[in-house]
Amino acid sequence: MRRKLAAGNWKMNGTSESLAEIDTLIKEHAEAGCDMLICPPATLIHRMADAAKDTNLAVGGQDCHAETSGAHTGDISAVMLRDAGASHVITGHSERRVDHGERDETVRAKTLAAIEAGLTAIVCVGESLKEREASNTLDIIAGQLSGSIPDTVTGQNLVVAYEPIWAIGTGKVPTLDQIGEVHDYMRSRLERRFGAGVARSVRLLYGGSVKAGNAAEIFGVSNVDGALVGGASLKAADFGPIVAALSASS
Ligand code: PEP
Repeated sequence: MRRKLAAGNWKMNGTSESLAEIDTLIKEHAEAGCDMLICPPATLIHRMADAAKDTNLAVGGQDCHAETSGAHTGDISAVMLRDAGASHVITGHSERRVDHGERDETVRAKTLAAIEAGLTAIVCVGESLKEREASNTLDIIAGQLSGSIPDTVTGQNLVVAYEPIWAIGTGKVPTLDQIGEVHDYMRSRLERRFGAGVARSVRLLYGGSVKAGNAAEIFGVSNVDGALVGGASLKAADFGPIVAALSASS
């Protein structure tokens, strides 16, 4: 069975004092019935990983370079993330695809580097509003899945997050039917490519304006194995109820 995952993406938010949020989360959700993950900015990974040692909270990066080391000013490799205490890394977030011009080939190379470094990659896919309105959502998802995921994945080293770009940070959420349609489709695409064994063990997260108020209904949708949460992951008081809703749905 797939264990549910509540993952938080802090994006470019958080300084030393934010680590107190992690202490609260760990204290209040030590018995959570799902996995918990926070991906803080790179500056906090080491300290957060230390604070979360021997707890049920995992720590991840938000991006990695495709190479192990070299002349890439400002970048961080998957090996470095692992060395700092991360167990996961997000690849292909739409803010990287849009702000940094990352294409599927780049995301695939980063995902491969993450897997080779022993990390679990959370590969993000999702359509723009224009693509949804043109009824191209499933084609976009199919292209991103085949272009961004390398051949060597397993149910342990791959998580896929469906994040419609128009739902990120906007308060807009697709209907439950729309979420279900995409998640069922992603499962079937993965099955076709990797076989049922692998495909059925890959966790599929929904991301985009998940909050305490809508989490339970989203977690009731078929093939939704958790959430990737941005804004509502910054405070334990907001993320905690999402963790609780996911635990209750498990
Ligand atoms: C995200 O950026 O991954 C995200 C889902 O953000 P938010 O929850 O703030 O919409």
